[in-house]
Amino acid sequence: MTAQEHAEPQILIVEDEPKIARLVADYLESSGFATRHLDHGDAVLPWLAEVQQASQGPALVLLDLMLPGTDGLTLCREIRQRWPALAVIMLTARVEEVDRLLGLELGADDYICKPFSPREVVARVKAVLRRSQAADQPASGEASDLVLDEEGWRALADGQDLGLTAVEFQLLKVMMHAPGRIFSRDQLMDHMYRDHRIVSERTVDSHVKKLRRKISDVWPEREVIRSVYGVGYKYQPEA
Ligand code: CA
Repeated sequence: MTAQEHAEPQILIVEDEPKIARLVADYLESSGFATRHLDHGDAVLPWLAEVQQASQGPALVLLDLMLPGTDGLTLCREIRQRWPALAVIMLTARVEEVDRLLGLELGADDYICKPFSPREVVARVKAVLRRSQAADQPASGEASDLVLDEEGWRALADGQDLGLTAVEFQLLKVMMHAPGRIFSRDQLMDHMYRDHRIVSERTVDSHVKKLRRKISDVWPEREVIRSVYGVGYKYQPEA
């Protein structure tokens, strides 16, 4: 094994408030991570380009939304385009931005609202890293036993037809194509109906509820469609 393989996973903290950055770094380091701190938006892409080139890039970026120089939204979009496998957790005091952060537009892996506890940050970092490592592995039986038959508009769980309606199938398909990504009700509506002025968010909830019930009939102990309070839903096959 090389020294690289032994190295602790590195977390890049992009945060212009030194106290917050220090606190988060302390907690991450005592949980076995290495950290690197940048306090200016303009420094992020050049630094990432350099370390990625040398294959010494971070495992995850904790990215503040409001920064001097290039802002967090722009940075998140750029990171997604240039290094799609790099995990990003946004730090934000603006709850109203959450939909955009996690949506198709920016595609952050998760977000944490300020003020937060450093313990929460560590827990989220670990969860996102587990998820992205699982996504890198070849599909295990665990994750691949829910199968979409797109021609037949059927979903099979352990070979058993779930008997989904067209709308339920469509919902599952959209979410399964981006495991771990949170979809707002609005985004799900866009995929379900051509004219979504006629449906309400409650309609989405009720279809998701039926979909989840059909899945849990086969897998009572597993929850593959999760609801994310105040935001929407996601497909998350692993525990
Ligand atoms: Ca800030």
